[in-house]
This record gives sequence, structure tokens and C-alpha cells, in this order.
Amino acid sequence: MTEIRYPFDEVPEKSQIVDVAPGVKWLRMPLPMALDHVNLYLIDAGDHWVVVDTGMNIDNIRSLWEQVLEQDLFENKPIGGVVVTHMHPDHVGLAGWLCERFRVPLYMSRSEYLNARALSTMTPGLSWTSRQYFERLGQTESFLNFLEKSLSGFAAVVSRMPGGFHRLTDGQCMELGGQQWQVVIGCGHSYEHVCLHNKDQGILLAGDQVIPKISSNVSVMATEPEANPLKDWLESIQKFKSLPSDTLVLPAHNRPFYGLHARLDELTRHHEDHLAAIEEACVQPKTATELLPVLFQREIDYMQMGMAVGECVAHLHFMMAEGQIERSLDDEGIYHYRTLDSLVADRPHKRHGYMDDEQIMV
Ligand SMILES: [Zn+2]
Repeated sequence: MTEIRYPFDEVPEKSQIVDVAPGVKWLRMPLPMALDHVNLYLIDAGDHWVVVDTGMNIDNIRSLWEQVLEQDLFENKPIGGVVVTHMHPDHVGLAGWLCERFRVPLYMSRSEYLNARALSTMTPGLSWTSRQYFERLGQTESFLNFLEKSLSGFAAVVSRMPGGFHRLTDGQCMELGGQQWQVVIGCGHSYEHVCLHNKDQGILLAGDQVIPKISSNVSVMATEPEANPLKDWLESIQKFKSLPSDTLVLPAHNRPFYGLHARLDELTRHHEDHLAAIEEACVQPKTATELLPVLFQREIDYMQMGMAVGECVAHLHFMMAEGQIERSLDDEGIYHYRTLDSLVADRPHKRHGYMDDEQIMV
């Protein structure tokens, strides 16, 4: 198995465009959070460029894009299309702005496009369903008040979505500049995340589906409180293992790397460790909020709380579906999770020692 290896020592400077593979260029946009950048890529489509992911809709990022667009690269070869891997603001944020400016098509999967459109028109405020979801996890009134004030977040950092899009589906091929880019859909981090695989060149544009150093957030969210996204995520890991192990992975965060299979194995172990730790902790019933220190060895602030507790619930739902954990609602309307007795006595815990603090939410 190929170990993880980074062929590029340097990352692109502000507005710098770097060759990363034949016909593929790499640039970065800043992010106003702990994870401080997102990688964007340009695919040579012959007479135009196709942009993959866009950055957030924030003044200084639009200015950076202006600097990028002034470069000679675009003189006789404009941007002719925008691919967005998934609906998170660091990826879709400037899709509408770019598509409007160049009057070019947007390519997304259907679930990602429709969700981005829905979220961008959401009225501020916390619905009773969201409130109930977090209350049942044992979250405090003070966190709910924080959410109440911060929920207009999506539209604040995502430009108006284009009125139409071109749908990307699993297995479909995009022909760009004579090269075939096959769509590979991953699930679990987002609904229907698009990756693009160029078999001939051995390149995978991976978005947030496979990132080398940080693990993508896999969360149950208030919009679908009974979801089991970790099942989807682990199945997607298996699916991506069918791609060649010597693939050059171009992720949306960190640096391009080799070692796709090694990284997928690490991610599997990371989640197996979380599952084992929860199983151990829930011998005594716990709420999802009480389980946070079991998964995260650091302080979780309110900015990260939704994703952290959502990730915890994703593991709990996976174990409930596997018959390892049961859930009960107490008189105060809070869920308690308990490891089933039959498992406690004789199950050897399969910990790999991966309970490090690698997780940064994306
Ligand atoms: Zn994401």
C-alpha cells in the first residue's frame, strides 16, 4: 500500500496559479475560520477553463478572484463553466457570482444544488424542530440562543445561486479538453458530493470527500434528525477504494497527495475508534452532549458545537442501526444512549489508538 506522500512542498500564494497536473491548475482562497483555506482547481477544457469550487462570498475573496482573473492565463481562454463539489459555503459561495459574470453553466449534483438554493432563501430564526433536535441532545438554552442569532449564516456567505444548473450523476463522464472526467459521488459529509476522476491521468478531484490531514465532518443535522450519514460515509470509503491506489488526490483542503488507500484506511480506523470509545462510555447511559469529551480532546466552542454534536449523533445512529446502542427519552425530553448489555461483557474493543485530535470541522 502506498503511504501518504505530498508531491508539492509549496502551496500557492495569494492569487497564484500553480500547475498541479497536465491540464489542471491549483489555487487557494482564504477562509475566515480555523481551517484557513480552500483549494480550487482549474481544468483545461480546450478553449476555456472549468473552475472546480469557488470560495466564500466575502469581499476580500471576491477581490482576490479579480486579481486571479486579470492574469494572462485567461486572456484568450475565459472561464466557461463552474463545477461545485458540494453545497458548503467554502465550495459553492461564489458559484452564482462567477456564473452570472461569465454567463456560464453551473455543474452540480441535484441534491447539492437544490439544498444550496433552499438554504440561501431560508428565513432567520430557529424552527421548533431544530430547537427540539438540540434540546434532545442535551444542549443548553444559551447555545440555542446563539443559534437563533447566527442562523442566517448561509446566505451571508453564498452569492445568489444561478437559476438553473447542469446535473452531474454518478458514473457520468465530462469531456473537457479531450480528457474524460468521470463523476464519482460520495455521501456522508454532504448529500451527494461530486468528485471527478480522470482515469487516464490518474487524478481524483476529491473536494471534501478525501482530505489528507483532517477528517471531514460527518453529521446528523436538525433538518434530518434520524439520518444515518456515517453508514453512507463508510460505504463511500469502500467505494473510493476501488479507484487505483496510485491516484494523485487533489483535495479541497491541505495539499495534493498520493496514498488514497492509506488515507481511506486511516479514516475508517478513525471512525472505528470513535465507535469503540462511545460503546465503552455508554455502559453508563449518556447524553450526546456528555459524550463530546469522549470524541474530542479539546474545548468545543459554539461555532463548532453543531458539527461536533452532530458528528457524535452520527456515530450513535450508526450503532443504533447496528443494534449496539439503545436510546431512551427521559421526562425532560433528553435522549440517553446506552450500550446494550449483551455487548458489554464479551466484546473485545477494537481501538486503534487513533483517538488523536486530528479532527477539524469542514
Ligand atoms: Zn464540506
